[in-house]
Amino acid sequence: MAEARTHNGTERTRYPEHEARHPWLSRLLNAYHLSDEATRQDLAEEAARRGHAPACRSGCTVCCQGQAIPVSDFEALGLWWYAAEILPPAAQRRLRGQLANRRDAKGSTPDTEYADCPFLMDGACSVYPLRPFVCRQHHVFGAACQQGENLRQQRPRDVFNTGQSAARGMAWEILPLYGVGEDDVDRLFERGYVGSRSKSLDTLPLENIITHMDAAAALRKARNA
Ligand code: SF4
Ligand code: SF4
Repeated sequence: MAEARTHNGTERTRYPEHEARHPWLSRLLNAYHLSDEATRQDLAEEAARRGHAPACRSGCTVCCQGQAIPVSDFEALGLWWYAAEILPPAAQRRLRGQLANRRDAKGSTPDTEYADCPFLMDGACSVYPLRPFVCRQHHVFGAACQQGENLRQQRPRDVFNTGQSAARGMAWEILPLYGVGEDDVDRLFERGYVGSRSKSLDTLPLENIITHMDAAAALRKARNA
């Protein structure tokens, strides 16, 4: 497996072998890094303003269960890639099972309900380095979220979205991946281009990740033969 290199808290994680094969991956990781840096600063400022830290903690996963998780094409591609090529074998086996359960449960859940995120394992995000923007930027102050709570209606002042100050920089990383030329990036960013291309993770054919895992395993085997 190719190594992931994280130099320190302020440099982005790198996957040199994979980034050489997938130029889109470098741009996506750059954009995530911009988001994380802005998030770190935004949270520090907001915590100082409010006089307390956000409620978000490791192991707190209500936001991963039964929620809409909007992802754009390249965020989804990043999840597919990470699940198929980077996840350790034990986690891959577990994910296969969760994806198969999800496929089997299709049709038995009302269309109005979102399924739990299939990447959630033992109270943690199994695809953490490639988790989508919304998972990086959605924060809550005050009490931690409770199941069934509608935060935006019940306590909107506790919801705090980070990373907005870096949104234009992220657009400059992501929009060229859609073939958008430099002259058009700012204009399309102002129009919310990436958001307009996002879909709920729940609606994507996530079971295809299993096929992608098989293909990646076969390719690794061929390379090592
Ligand atoms: S958004 Fe809510 S559920 Fe998610 S980590 Fe923060 S407090 Fe916990
Ligand atoms: S991708 Fe990770 S952080 Fe985001 S909803 Fe799924 S498990 Fe939670």
